[in-house]
Amino acid sequence: MLNNSLVALDRAHLVHPVASYRQHERNGVRVITSAKGATVFDAAGRPLIDGFAGLWCVNAGYGHESIVEAAARQMRELPYATAYFGLGSESAIRLAAELAERAPGDLNHVYFTLGGSDAVDTTVRLIRYYQTVRGKPEKDQFISIEQGYHGSSTVGAGLTAIPIFHAHFGAPFDWQHKIPSAYPYRNPVGTDDAAIIAASLQALKAKVEAVGGPERVAAFYAEPIQGSGGVIVPPRGWMKAMRDLCAALDILFVADEVITGFGRTGPLFASTEDDIVPDLMTVAKGLTSGYVPMGAVFLSDKVYDTIADGAGNAAVGHGTTYSAHPVSAAVGLEVLRLYEDGLLDNGRRAGARLMKGLNGLGDHPLVGEVRGRGMLAAVELVTDKAAKTPLPAAADTARRIFDRAWNQGLVIRAFGNGILGYAPPLCCTDEEIDAIVERTRLVLDETLDDPDVR
Ligand code: PMP
Repeated sequence: MLNNSLVALDRAHLVHPVASYRQHERNGVRVITSAKGATVFDAAGRPLIDGFAGLWCVNAGYGHESIVEAAARQMRELPYATAYFGLGSESAIRLAAELAERAPGDLNHVYFTLGGSDAVDTTVRLIRYYQTVRGKPEKDQFISIEQGYHGSSTVGAGLTAIPIFHAHFGAPFDWQHKIPSAYPYRNPVGTDDAAIIAASLQALKAKVEAVGGPERVAAFYAEPIQGSGGVIVPPRGWMKAMRDLCAALDILFVADEVITGFGRTGPLFASTEDDIVPDLMTVAKGLTSGYVPMGAVFLSDKVYDTIADGAGNAAVGHGTTYSAHPVSAAVGLEVLRLYEDGLLDNGRRAGARLMKGLNGLGDHPLVGEVRGRGMLAAVELVTDKAAKTPLPAAADTARRIFDRAWNQGLVIRAFGNGILGYAPPLCCTDEEIDAIVERTRLVLDETLDDPDVR
């Protein structure tokens, strides 16, 4: 009864992110009522394994009393403090320091945001500022990658390269450019790592020349693994090669670790595994494990000092009311403690088991490729393995796959073109990982029986 009235209220009043509004009205909302560990419960009290950690964010899993306690303690003591006017709060200062200590290289300066989109937005603003105050205002062109996702702010949506974020929005801006994705499964140069890396380097050099040379290019954006584009894993060495080319061309390199940060691929930051120090790095999601909103931008000493010296006594006009929010920061500190108190280790173990289990599905007639790193994985479906034919878009593939998984007691991401995405909480037990894999096999079998798919 309660659920029926919620469905009606939702239909009438709640506008959902990245949804077909009309289709959502027809389908009605599915209300999640509670959660514990890696399990969420629907309105009927039915448990489902959350194989996607909410929206790849609840890395610690649900129901950690110590996180709730940290937030409650901070709310009682000091629910809000602005970081304007030279003021600050202990939790935000401590979190910035703890993060800087663990971040790659000289990424020593942390600007806190509310999530990933405004973190990306912040990088664009600060990069323009940086290039201008160092006397290179003509370095105002930005390059990112096809299938990349960098949020849905007015500016970030244009760095994002997924069609629905552009259509009818006037995106991208004419200073936002793309190069092809490394996408090993579908790269025209084949599957050889060295050939893929060489092709990406060539594509970036060519794009830089096409927009007027290095003296016009401000920055290049890359995700260590392209998440929303379909969990696309570039070859080992790809990030380092791209990073080194950017350094050689005097182009700032931004690693967007909004998904990959905080244990998703194993270590605290994927950049460490990739052996790079970006000039700027964005994080969100796992920073607070989704319990409260927060993101961050890490700035290298070079970027921070150039902006600081360039501004002199003028204020750098970028900020929002909730930057460095003390409650979010208190949650971030506790979540960080949990990562280092066994969660990262468990995530590594569980991630190896997940990859092994999903790889075991490779013999299924629909599975074209299994890929991933740590607790971030994808199964790409095809109707013809040799020709790598994607599932027919007309078959409402993603929706049906999502529904089949839901009915099996599993939440996964189903990307439009028949890619199943996995990002379970790092706290998953062996039994939960095995259930994710077993239920996926059932979903694949049902999909194979779907007459619209063949
Ligand atoms: N960058 C990346 C790589 C992301 O995956 C996301 C969100 N999925 C964002 C930025 C935007 O983050 P948010 O949704 O918190 O604004």
